[in-house]
Amino acid sequence: MSLSLYNTLTRRKEAFAPLDPERVRMYVCGPTVYDFAHIGNARPVIVFDTLFRLMRHIYGADKVVYARNITDVDDKINARAAERYPDLAPEAGVRKLTDETAAQFQSDISALGVLPPTVEPRATEHISEMVRLCDALVSRNHAYVAADHVLFDVSSMADYGKLSNRSLEEMEAGARVEVAAYKRGPMDFVLWKPSKPGEPGWPSPSGIKVAGRPGWHIECSAMAARYLGTVFDIHGGGIDLVFPHHENEIAQSRCGHGTDVMARVWMHNGFLQVEGEKMSKSLGNFITINELLASERFGQQRWHGRVLRLAMLGTHYRQPIDWTVDRLVQARTALLDFADLAHGVKASSDPHPEFLAALSDDLNTPSAMSIIHGLAKSARRNTESAELLKSSLRFLGVYDNQSRDEFAVGGAVRAVDSAKVEALVSARLAARKRRDFKESDRLRDELAAMGVQLKDAKDPRTGDIVTTWELQP
Ligand code: AMP
Ligand code: ZN
Repeated sequence: MSLSLYNTLTRRKEAFAPLDPERVRMYVCGPTVYDFAHIGNARPVIVFDTLFRLMRHIYGADKVVYARNITDVDDKINARAAERYPDLAPEAGVRKLTDETAAQFQSDISALGVLPPTVEPRATEHISEMVRLCDALVSRNHAYVAADHVLFDVSSMADYGKLSNRSLEEMEAGARVEVAAYKRGPMDFVLWKPSKPGEPGWPSPSGIKVAGRPGWHIECSAMAARYLGTVFDIHGGGIDLVFPHHENEIAQSRCGHGTDVMARVWMHNGFLQVEGEKMSKSLGNFITINELLASERFGQQRWHGRVLRLAMLGTHYRQPIDWTVDRLVQARTALLDFADLAHGVKASSDPHPEFLAALSDDLNTPSAMSIIHGLAKSARRNTESAELLKSSLRFLGVYDNQSRDEFAVGGAVRAVDSAKVEALVSARLAARKRRDFKESDRLRDELAAMGVQLKDAKDPRTGDIVTTWELQP
């Protein structure tokens, strides 16, 4: 099966061929752990988990190495740790905060059906690799030490700006930030900086006597090289990371290792906004994964993690996505139907070939979903379709043999007795059959009062009316 992926670096869709099919390597920038992850952060996690699943299928489950880091050194982390654990020493406070936040992240995303990556390195456990990379960059004349910082000299790299498609001149012209006096050029960026009193610090690269800490970009360059080698297959993250983060990762890795690429394919997911607006704390529409799973803040109900995942995969990963209550209701309705059709069914050994072909075309999940909807249409009458439906849903990570009731989390839903609902639904169908419309309307009203909405459809083959039901949001 041929996989094609859109490459930000070349700005086109390309046939993907791993450098080594025995060891297909992907790096994705992970979270900075100081607070709950928001639903925008869930997008790259879900998207690249889906690609991970697809590559494991194509190349073999033990042939794919997926590294997703945890950034546990950062200004926001230091500030939050000092605020939350004022009585602990800075290192201990930071470790406690980052341990707790990382554990929360793992638990939130596992509810989204996300597989653990092959390795999940923490920045603070790879400081020595970062220091070595700083030293290598200085000795190769791509970086310099000034005022206890190590800075990357962007003028030393001929094609700096290639990923974000901007020339150094353009960037310099657009640079509005006040430029620190110790920088040689306005776009030079920090590889290492001195730690302030009360912040965690480590022995610095050569030529710096005070303790310091790494900049954000160098973390990913060092951890990617440690686990995937100096040149690897795929590097991913959200579109906001193209510049400066990924541009700078490329500069450090290529200049530090003397290679002409860092990753061969660069993939970026589009941004998520909420009900038509950019998500932000000040607008009050900032929503965490955990709130969606565990509280009734969004749409006055809790949402099942697989509903969130299905809602996320309904849009192609490169498009922007609008996160709305309506989208979640639709995803849940679809999953309730799927659960009806697939619960307890034996899954086929492979998903539908057209479904796999859709995913292999730059992870076209909307097209994969339309294959799934087609299978669902025939699954009631056709066992083979039901089995393919189940394995395709499983493959996407949106369904794992849950019963319909499990997806129906949320306000009214918890109270409903589904056996009673089923009995009333059949009684209503029987009443309709004998043309007792008064009784069938009465039963419909009784169900509506329980919060149950009915959907009647004609089976095209038999002409019979088939009724499905769902709980109103
Ligand atoms: P951060 O913790 O901000 O570095 O973000 C972690 C990951 O989430 C990065 O890959 C970001 O690009 C991604 N991300 C952050 N906000 C959004 C958003 N609103 N939509 C999609 N991806 C996002
Ligand atoms: Zn990164």
